[in-house]
Amino acid sequence: PAQPPAPEARDPRQVLRRVFGYRSFRGPQEAIVRHVIGGGSGLVLMPTGGGKSLCYQIPALCRPGLAVVVSPLIALMEDQVEGLLQAGVRAAALHSALSAEQASGIWGAIGSGELDLLYVSPERLLGGDLLERLGEHPLALFAIDEAHCVSQWGHDFRPEYIQLAVLAERFPAVPRLALTATADPRTREEIVQRLELADGRVFLASFDRPNIRYLLRAKEEARDQLLHFLEQHRGEAGIVYARSRARVDRFAADLRAAGFDALGYHAGMEAEQRSATLQRFRNGSGVVVVATIAFGMGIDKPDVRFVAHVDLPKSLEAYYQETGRAGRDGLPAVAWMVHGPGDIPQLRRFIDDSEAPEAQKRIEHGKLEALIGFTEAAGCRRQVLLRHFGEDLAEPCGNCDGCLEPQARVDVTEPARKALSAVYRTGQRFGAAHVVDVLLGGNTERIRSLGHDGLSVYGIGGELDRSQWRTLLRQLTSAGYLQPVPEGHGGLRFGAEALVKPLLRGETRLELPLPPPQKERRRSRA
Ligand code: ADP
Ligand code: ZN
Repeated sequence: PAQPPAPEARDPRQVLRRVFGYRSFRGPQEAIVRHVIGGGSGLVLMPTGGGKSLCYQIPALCRPGLAVVVSPLIALMEDQVEGLLQAGVRAAALHSALSAEQASGIWGAIGSGELDLLYVSPERLLGGDLLERLGEHPLALFAIDEAHCVSQWGHDFRPEYIQLAVLAERFPAVPRLALTATADPRTREEIVQRLELADGRVFLASFDRPNIRYLLRAKEEARDQLLHFLEQHRGEAGIVYARSRARVDRFAADLRAAGFDALGYHAGMEAEQRSATLQRFRNGSGVVVVATIAFGMGIDKPDVRFVAHVDLPKSLEAYYQETGRAGRDGLPAVAWMVHGPGDIPQLRRFIDDSEAPEAQKRIEHGKLEALIGFTEAAGCRRQVLLRHFGEDLAEPCGNCDGCLEPQARVDVTEPARKALSAVYRTGQRFGAAHVVDVLLGGNTERIRSLGHDGLSVYGIGGELDRSQWRTLLRQLTSAGYLQPVPEGHGGLRFGAEALVKPLLRGETRLELPLPPPQKERRRSRA
């Protein structure tokens, strides 16, 4: 049986060393741990693999009472509990798969103060009388893992998370720590608001993965391009993401024919075959898995050398998560993607044809726009990616295609000023489609009813075609001149004043790699 930590071990650094066997804290871990030990609440944003667990596990051992950890997946809970038990920490998971006997054993341990950490699912925590029963015991803290599940804007909304707000009301004196790897500012705001963490602190670890090289390519023949890319990575382990099961099967066969040790993975395969693939990938060297997004959970292989996308992912969050599986060991790795305008209509259709409510569809469209903006962005990819997560990278990274292979740029100062003016004159609340309609002097119902045909910016945008204006608006958004209106269903408003003002005043010029007009592009392809 595990020993309770000795009193002198309640110093967080001692606990880190003696219980977990680590020499020093990473990034913001120590500040977080001390804040919670002192009774503070807050939100932790840290990329996957950054070390979120210790942020609540150490305070759990340093504060008197039981720490309650809310976690959405039984498998994750059991992994954590097993690791903790091995380290001699008294932990248990309470979930629906337990027998009544096992559950009452856990309650016995809680009653006699012999448990340090209790993992529960949100359903379990909020259903029945669990909160009442917990209230009879001293509590060290609440940790809310995967806290983005509370956000409708996030990618993994779970309605039961919303009810976790009751923790603030029922246990005002118990610190609450929400943790997530999804860091875009909108999700962050939603978590703080819904979990009532406004009085707490926000701890933001850097989301930069400097060892990953981002390489984006215009899609021509995805298969040939992929094979060419893989030639430079023979013998390395990697993942190739494709949109559909059929494409996974086809690419996997192509790779095998080209002599790669390639396996397909998608939800249409037998569970046994899937887990055999996962095993081969984990244990083998140089195995390439061609997969749909079904391949994700539980990939903790440190030496994945590349992640390739032959189709666009559905959002920048998804892209970050998927590419983030490369280079966990900190050694150089590549995130490679081919993309083209051809992918976009299908992704738009997926959203429109889904069962989701209208508001959700707008959110999904907004996320897709951000992703397209990333693919079209001028300059450093990493700066655009990190800006999306609310982080400012002062200098271009030098490790992406934007930095390594700069594109030809054109002076877009005048069109950019017109676009900004149109956003401003229409009240900084409309989406790109309407702003472009105004610039092009469109005769839409909306323009007439809003009287936007009377604005000075109406019809001043003849020098670019519709698709170029859309690209420019996305580029201006990626570059920070514009930003989505929070809760604004795709509306745009001004971004950083330090960028917008000088441009509008004509004090700075702007160069971007704007594509040729759509008409010419079609002709040149034929
Ligand atoms: P996350 O939940 O953020 O994805 P984990 O908490 O699972 O990350 O931690 C990822 C890995 O990093 C784990 O193997 C963990 O043991 C290790 N780790 C966390 N903090 C430290 C530290 N301070 N020193 C060394 N290793 C650490
Ligand atoms: Zn760069």
